[in-house]
Amino acid sequence: MYRLVYVSHARESLTDDDIAHILDVSVNNNYERFITGFLVQSHGRFMQVLEGEEDEVRQIYEKILVDHRHTGVTQIVGETVKERAFPDWSMNYHRVDGPAGSARMVVRRDEPIDSLMPATMPRDLLYLFGKFITVR
Ligand code: FAD
Repeated sequence: MYRLVYVSHARESLTDDDIAHILDVSVNNNYERFITGFLVQSHGRFMQVLEGEEDEVRQIYEKILVDHRHTGVTQIVGETVKERAFPDWSMNYHRVDGPAGSARMVVRRDEPIDSLMPATMPRDLLYLFGKFITVR
């Protein structure tokens, strides 16, 4: 099992519809390839965890790398892991800077990030997500 984490900057003109489209395509693609993960958007930036068979994860990442809907895609973690941190999520998405309750996938600004995460989530990933949403 392989885990890849990257960060990127969302294109400024990216709309909620664009995000919804990305999620639709991703849910299907990831489900078919048994890829699980988590995408967080915060203040114009993305951080995504992708987990699965290494070849599958790398193939999806190759597509994500050249996607013009974001820039500066930078891998920050690439590691072999024993088990998935997000076994139930083919593509979970949370936007942490949106107005409270404006969409079903938007969490409240003051929601602690650890309340979103599976209880078994590795501490180092939780730390990364915590940093990501607090650093601007
Ligand atoms: P295609 O058949 O090539 O396209 C599917 C649909 O997406 C089409 O409607 C096409 O018009 C549209 N599309 C494809 N590429 C672009 C593009 N560059 N700009 C605008 N529209 C486009 N994909 C995943 O499969 N899994 C993920 O977890 C995932 N996470 C992403 C996270 C972020 C932050 C971003 C920006 C993109 C992510 N994507 C993800 C999308 C990925 O970059 C590719 O667009 C997608 O994987 C293409 O899938 P496909 O080859 O099946 O689709």
